[in-house]
Parts: sequence; structure tokens; C-alpha cells
Amino acid sequence: MKGRISSFQSMGAVDGPGLRFVAFAQGCPLRCAYCHNPETWAADGGSEFTVEQIVEKAERVRPYIKKGGFTLSGGEPLMQPEFAAELFAALRGRGFHTALDTSGCFGAGDTVREVLRHTGLVICDVKFARAGLFKKYCGGELSRTLDFIALTEEMRVPLWIRQVVVPSINDAPSDARELGRIAASYRNVEKLELLPFRKLCMHKYEALGIDFPLHGVPECGADKLRELQEVAERERAGV
Ligand code: SF4
Repeated sequence: MKGRISSFQSMGAVDGPGLRFVAFAQGCPLRCAYCHNPETWAADGGSEFTVEQIVEKAERVRPYIKKGGFTLSGGEPLMQPEFAAELFAALRGRGFHTALDTSGCFGAGDTVREVLRHTGLVICDVKFARAGLFKKYCGGELSRTLDFIALTEEMRVPLWIRQVVVPSINDAPSDARELGRIAASYRNVEKLELLPFRKLCMHKYEALGIDFPLHGVPECGADKLRELQEVAERERAGV
């Protein structure tokens, strides 16, 4: 079984618990206005790797990721569900913790269910907590992400929910409360994390000859992020 991978990161520190070996899957059906990885969009980009080749790479860094594990990110890893399922099954069989970093945009079909059978943690980026913003700035459906999250709950897969805060688009307290309400609706949510909008990716857009739609939007400051994180946490806790 082969899958298309955009790149690897030997020791990622932000893609799950502990240090992680991260594979960025190639291909994504969304077009998030703030996307940091536009090089992953084309389904036919990247390079092909077999499950065995990736397992071998993970084995090479095993001593460094003992307390961490393997994360399949993207792009959108669920665009290649059979590959993701087989890869996770092989890694789990060898004792690696597996994390899936996804937007959940493929909903809750049988192939997604098969991936989740071998997944130790789901990190779901709920792009926007309002359907209109999700559609406008990512081109996807919030309802499909919520269907996916419901499936993670049904299958009792631990879940981290994330969201990027973009000034002037989703940085109002009401946006944070809406996300907190979503997090409060599912019993398997272990963590709710807001991330700041950054523009470190602009050189990638220039290199690809694509306009960065949010170039005029300021980055999200640390104080604002902290304030919204507290609002979201309070809503989640019901206080
Ligand atoms: S889901 Fe991720 S990879 Fe796909 S467009 Fe959005 S930010 Fe980029």
C-alpha cells in the first residue's frame, strides 16, 4: 500500500503529546484562507511512500519519540483513508502511539471509521465554529466536521479540538464561546486549543504564484489569544 506524502518532520513538538515523528499527507479538498501548507493541496504532488518505508523511518527515530509517537497530518490525511488505516495499523502493531491531525471534512463514512479504529488521538481543527465562515474561508461544511467529531466520540477516540484565531474574522468572544459550546457537546474532548493566525507562510504562496488572501490581515497577538482561550474554556466548563 502506497500513499502520497508532502514532507516529514522528525521531531515535531506541537502535533500531539511528546515529541512526534510527523508525516504531512499530500492533497487537501479545502482551501483555508490562512493555510500554512499550500504545497500540500494538489493530490498528485508530493512523493509516494509505502507503509513499510514510513514504518522504517519511524523506527529510526524511535529512541527520540519514546514518550511521543507518530502523527499523520497534512494536507488532509483522510483523503487517503485506506493508506492511513494501514499505516496506523502497522505503527500501532509496533507500539507507536498514533495521532491523526485532520479537519474532519470527510465526515463519518466507513473508510474514516476504519482509520479511527487504529487511531490513538484525533486532533481536529474545527476551522470555524460558524457554518457561514467555514464555507466562506475554507470552502467546506461545518456539519461534516461535526459528524466526524460525533464518530470519534462514538468510537471513544480521545480528541483535541483546535482553531486558528484570525483577527477581524473569528476573534470575537462570541466566536470563542461558540467553539467552547462545540467542545462541551462531546465527552471525548481532552483539550481545546486556540492557535494564533501567523503569516510565516507568505513566501510559500509567492513561490507557488498564488495570492495569499489574508495578506492585509494582522497576526493574532498573544494577549488576545489568551483572553479568547479563557472565554472558550469557561464556556466549555459551563461557568
Ligand atoms: S485543511 Fe489544512 S492543509 Fe487543507 S487548506 Fe486547510 S489549513 Fe491547508
